[in-house]
Amino acid sequence: MNTLFFIIVGIVLFDFITERILDILNLNNWNPDLPGEAKGIYDEERYRKSMEYYKVNDRFSMITSMFSLALLLSVLFLDGFAWIDHYVRSITVNPAWMALLFFGIIGLASDLFSTLFSLYKIFVIEEKFGFNKMTPKTFVLDKLKGYLLSILIGGALLSLIVWIYGASGKYFWLYALGVLALFMVFATMFYASIILPLFNKLTPLPEGELRTSIESYCGKVGFKLHNLFVMDGSKRSSKANAFFSGMGAKKKIVLFDTLIEKHSTDELVAILAHEVGHYKKKHTMQGLMLGLLQSGIMLFILSLFLGNPELSKALGASQSSFHLDILAFGMIYSPLSALLGILMNMLSRKNEYEADRYAKETSDGTALASALIKLSVDNLGNLKPHPAYVFVHYSHPTLLQRLEKLK
Ligand SMILES: [Zn+2]
Repeated sequence: MNTLFFIIVGIVLFDFITERILDILNLNNWNPDLPGEAKGIYDEERYRKSMEYYKVNDRFSMITSMFSLALLLSVLFLDGFAWIDHYVRSITVNPAWMALLFFGIIGLASDLFSTLFSLYKIFVIEEKFGFNKMTPKTFVLDKLKGYLLSILIGGALLSLIVWIYGASGKYFWLYALGVLALFMVFATMFYASIILPLFNKLTPLPEGELRTSIESYCGKVGFKLHNLFVMDGSKRSSKANAFFSGMGAKKKIVLFDTLIEKHSTDELVAILAHEVGHYKKKHTMQGLMLGLLQSGIMLFILSLFLGNPELSKALGASQSSFHLDILAFGMIYSPLSALLGILMNMLSRKNEYEADRYAKETSDGTALASALIKLSVDNLGNLKPHPAYVFVHYSHPTLLQRLEKLK
């Protein structure tokens, strides 16, 4: 047990404790009575239900995180990672195969563990509050497709990076960044046309009042929309959503069927205007660039750490190896990555305001406000999360904050 081992344990504990504190702050921020500014948004009963939903979820996340903490600490103190490394070495000596097997075993074990919890979350909690629409069959198929994708995409990326590490030496991080950049551009462009259809059915929005209104809006703001799709979100949940995806000619706007079902044409055009706002203000491009910058920072710092025998030793292994180094580094890097996550959330909240403002200017602010209210009430959204919780975890401003700006 070297110093690094204790630093890692410290980071794991620190993360657990701050998350619990944020949860407690959030829970205590609930007012049992309907807050004044929420009158006209929630009725008493729906408000009580949203509080109950939040409490059930809070208790559940408390239990899951305690289990995960106990598991991770046991693995760390019992040198579990070194044990897996030892096993992997008995099978192959090829660095890429070792890394694939090592992360494959860890990924599978942690996924089986978290699957138990997500089964409860979907089929008990979401079911109880009427959100779940997923059948056990969809759940199993989703899992299998998810595994297949992780093996294909994750496996290919990992072997490529191990190979680059072996071949490039000092400038490893630059080559790895190049590979990652290509992958990220590709993923951004093709996510909605390749990955998403594996899980959902996308159908072009049929002709009718909605399509005509949307087309006339897009014509007005000069937005070339070739790909407007409806997605069968109702296959999994009654919660509604809409999103923008892709770049250039590959750009797509996707509306959930559950969204169309519950909103008026004016509201839907306003939601679409918000999505167009993200595009016009270049948020997709910005996200991609910042993602690359973050990966660059991470890979550069990683390159300074790699090959240091202390990394593998911290996980209890006597022999140094690339996969153990990466895993130990990932744990040491997590506070910085959490910090960057907070910065990204701040930026994302600013972007949401910008997209809202764009929708208000080019479409109808009142319709957007009423759509946001409907979404929040239907999804039992938390009306008054604690500001510290919002600061750390929220990618969108709260409903009340957005409504204030839409006035
Ligand atoms: Zn948005």
